[in-house]
Amino acid sequence: MEVLRMIVFGAPGTGKGTHSANLSRRLGIPCISTGQLLREAVMAGNELGQKVKAYTDSGQLVPDGIMIDLVDERLANPDCASGYILDGFPRTLDQAEALAERVSVDVVLSLEVPDDEIETRMTGRRVCAACGTTYHTEYNPPRTEDVCDQCGKELSLRVDDRPETVRARLRAYHQSTEPIKGYYAREGKLKSVSSRGAVEETAANCMRALGLT
Ligand code: AMP
Repeated sequence: MEVLRMIVFGAPGTGKGTHSANLSRRLGIPCISTGQLLREAVMAGNELGQKVKAYTDSGQLVPDGIMIDLVDERLANPDCASGYILDGFPRTLDQAEALAERVSVDVVLSLEVPDDEIETRMTGRRVCAACGTTYHTEYNPPRTEDVCDQCGKELSLRVDDRPETVRARLRAYHQSTEPIKGYYAREGKLKSVSSRGAVEETAANCMRALGLT
């Protein structure tokens, strides 16, 4: 089978989690969400969790060295042998360069939503802290209110989805993360997809951009 290494890219609140998980199911390759790996570490209260909590709670980027080690360790897992989808990594040019030293990425799917829509969308976001599945009260509701379809646990609003933190995360995105688009565009790997519409519509846009429909 062909190995596919993909990055799902975008500002916070553009649907990276939802669409990476969807593509992961369709393509049968794992989705690696660095945000989810960090949340799990914070919940477990382990050494990594203690190091990163102040950053994630306030919406700042975790230092590159920590992130690169975390991704290195995750990519060494045998389930990555036939490919993977990176959700939320890389987020800085240094991370993108570190990744390029290790593997060749095939495609970068950039989910586009104008900033003014993002804040509204994020307040309706709900996440399952147990398995990481994300929902939206309006656009992508679970079958039963506040209950995860996948594992049956209770859904909650992430600490970092509070309005002031969302604004900090958008600033971090524009300052440190958005320049990566140019980096991948120059390599001819960037595919931009509108993520403004309903989940199904964006999912179809993603499949079309990947040439999978
Ligand atoms: P996410 O769930 O992808 O929005 O990530 C949640 C938070 O985790 C971010 O606001 C950052 O604090 C941190 N984070 C996740 N991925 C990265 C990364 N690649 N580099 C730096 N910080 C990250």
